[in-house]
Amino acid sequence: MQYHLNLAHLYGDLLNTYSDIGNILVLKYYAKQMDTDIDVQIISLDDDFDPDKFDFALFGGGQDYEQTIVSRDLPNKAAAIKKFINDDKPMLAVCGGYQLLGQYYIGADGKKIPGVGALPHRTETQVNNRFIGDIRIRNEETGEEYHGFENHNGMTFLGEGERPLGKVIEGHGNNGQDGSEGAIYKNVFGTYFHGPVLARNGNLAKRFLLLALKNKYPDADFSQQEALEIKPTY
Ligand code: GLN
Repeated sequence: MQYHLNLAHLYGDLLNTYSDIGNILVLKYYAKQMDTDIDVQIISLDDDFDPDKFDFALFGGGQDYEQTIVSRDLPNKAAAIKKFINDDKPMLAVCGGYQLLGQYYIGADGKKIPGVGALPHRTETQVNNRFIGDIRIRNEETGEEYHGFENHNGMTFLGEGERPLGKVIEGHGNNGQDGSEGAIYKNVFGTYFHGPVLARNGNLAKRFLLLALKNKYPDADFSQQEALEIKPTY
C-alpha cells in the first residue's frame, strides 16, 4: 500500500453501542481500494492520547453509565483532543461520543455529564422519551443523502461554528425541533447515526478517508481516490 493512516479509537472498549466498531471494518474496506492501510489503536481510560501520533479518530456511542465513566477521564485528554481537532484532523463521533465532545449532556436521570468542551454544542435531556428509529438526512453542501438509525435520549443544540451534518428528511435528528442532524466542526463529524454508520454511507466513509489522506499527504495527487465509485448499500 502506498499510504498509511493511524486511527485512534477513543474509548473503543467502552463506547460501542450497536457495534459502532464496525466503522473500522468499513474504513479498512474502502481504504484498501484507495491504496491505503490503516493501523488502529484503542485509547481508553488512563491511556495517553498523543494527537501527533494519529491521523484520524473515532469516538463511539454508549449508554449514560459508560458515558459517566468516560466523562471522568476526559479532563486528562482534553488538551490533546482539542489540539487534534484544531490541527484539522478528522474525527467521527457517534451519539454518546458526539455528545461528549460538546459542553455537557444531561443524562436521563437529570444529572449533568460534563463533556470535553472541544465543540460548542450542548445536550439536554427529555423526560420519558427517546428518539428511536430510522433516519434519513441530506447534506446541504454535497447534496449527499445519509441513512441511519437513531436511539437517544439527549437533545443536542449546536453552537457557534458548528453546522449540521444534514437536514432531517425523516426521523428526529439532533433535537426533534430544528430539523438538524449531527454536526460538522472543522473536520469533525458528529452524528446520532448508530451502528456502523459508514457501512450504509460509503460516500461519508470516502469523504472521511480523503480528509485524512489530504491532511497527512498535502502534496500527493488523490484524483484516483476521488474517483472511487461508491455503490449504494442501503
Ligand atoms: N446515552 C445517550 C443518550 O441516550 C447516548 C445514547 C447512545 O449513544 N446511543 O442520549
